[in-house]
Amino acid sequence: MKKNYFLLSLFCGLFFNAQDGQGFYQPKNSICLSQEQRQNIQEEISNNRKILKSQGKLSENKKLDHPLFIWPVTKNPNTKYNHVWSISNHVDHNSAYPNKLQDWNCGTRTYDTTDGYNHMGIDIFTWPFGWHMMDNDVAHAVAAADGIIIMKSNGNYDRNCSFGSDNWNAVYVQHGDGSVSWYGHLKNNSLTSKIVGSFVSAGEYLGVIGSSGNSTGPHLHFEVYNNNNQLVDPYSGSCNTWNSSTDSWWENQKPYVDPKINAIFTHSDLAVFDNGCGVQETTNFKDSFNTGEKVMVYMYFADLPVGKQINLKLIRPDNTVAYNNTFNNSNFYFASYWYFTFQSSQFNQYGNWKASVTVDSETVTHDFVYGANMNIDDIKTTKRFSVINPIKNNQLQIFSKNNGNASKSKLEIFSMEGKLVESKQVELKSGANLIDVKLQKLQNYILKISNDTTQETFKIVN
Ligand SMILES: [Zn+2]
Repeated sequence: MKKNYFLLSLFCGLFFNAQDGQGFYQPKNSICLSQEQRQNIQEEISNNRKILKSQGKLSENKKLDHPLFIWPVTKNPNTKYNHVWSISNHVDHNSAYPNKLQDWNCGTRTYDTTDGYNHMGIDIFTWPFGWHMMDNDVAHAVAAADGIIIMKSNGNYDRNCSFGSDNWNAVYVQHGDGSVSWYGHLKNNSLTSKIVGSFVSAGEYLGVIGSSGNSTGPHLHFEVYNNNNQLVDPYSGSCNTWNSSTDSWWENQKPYVDPKINAIFTHSDLAVFDNGCGVQETTNFKDSFNTGEKVMVYMYFADLPVGKQINLKLIRPDNTVAYNNTFNNSNFYFASYWYFTFQSSQFNQYGNWKASVTVDSETVTHDFVYGANMNIDDIKTTKRFSVINPIKNNQLQIFSKNNGNASKSKLEIFSMEGKLVESKQVELKSGANLIDVKLQKLQNYILKISNDTTQETFKIVN
């Protein structure tokens, strides 16, 4: 794993301006564990097992079927990421080396080294902003199946970007049949507080994905042994000859190419993906923009096939579409991004906007506010109406420039989250109209006035 970012050429074309483009992230391989480290771990596991068995805390039934795993990576429930990972390396089934590679699907999404190491696990890297994710506890390693913690390693430096002799932080879980799963490279001091000998259930938190040990960037190394202590590749595929063709260890085996929308975010400026070894990226995340500011929308993908259609929309506070662009993905990468810059002229309504990206049938949406610094103590005027802020005495004041005729209009008031909170039919006569509303004090709302001929939107404040 490493952070090695290549900015593809910035595109100029029909829908690109100077600050639109794409790029990708290519994690570099890391040896994950030296042979000596692996041997030491095996010895410690073996000792721990004996102790735990003698204490009656560990039993195994080798006659049981092997567990069926769930995915060992999940996200912090509070994050705005849709997905937090992609795969850089599978297990190498070709015992020859170097550069003699074969993964379970007969591809080469794996690696080996000149001194004879064939990758023995699955490397699941965090994307985008792996260091930022690590610092914010965004991506978690979780138990792939029920089991007993049989070993924990903590206290090791977790911001490595190259091969070294550091030990990793890791949790090791033994399952009911005696098989064991390893979760390595975890963030220092992030490990589950459960002690060795404790039960963990499938999906239970084990630690934050970091870059401890022989690692070139934040990723989880997931390694599995069966109850005879033989290495297992959980995937069933025609080039995994260790398993029968139907014997996947996954409850739901993910496809070899697994396209994902990892995120759509808004930024104040270009994201800086590489600030040097172990240094947090400059995300330039921004969700609340002042009038006059540009908005940069980034979409982050994993495994997106060439030619896959990507649709980006900007949606105004009143749910009309301000921007709608479909384009094709041009290259395959394990991790990639596209970005577009929108100038302030695009934002002709103030309030809660949405940026949404759709690939196939999946849509991921990101909320942001435009016009955060708008002077709220103000009269908002359009061709047809003026609305006075703030609302006084629960009465909305609307001036209609309606040439004498009252017009039947529909008033809808939305919260800044876009939820309809009040709706009524009114006659707006020419001049001043006072309309009773029941809104919370000191809150901002969006008022939409619609009639046969017009539809206008105002930000209002109670
Ligand atoms: Zn690895």
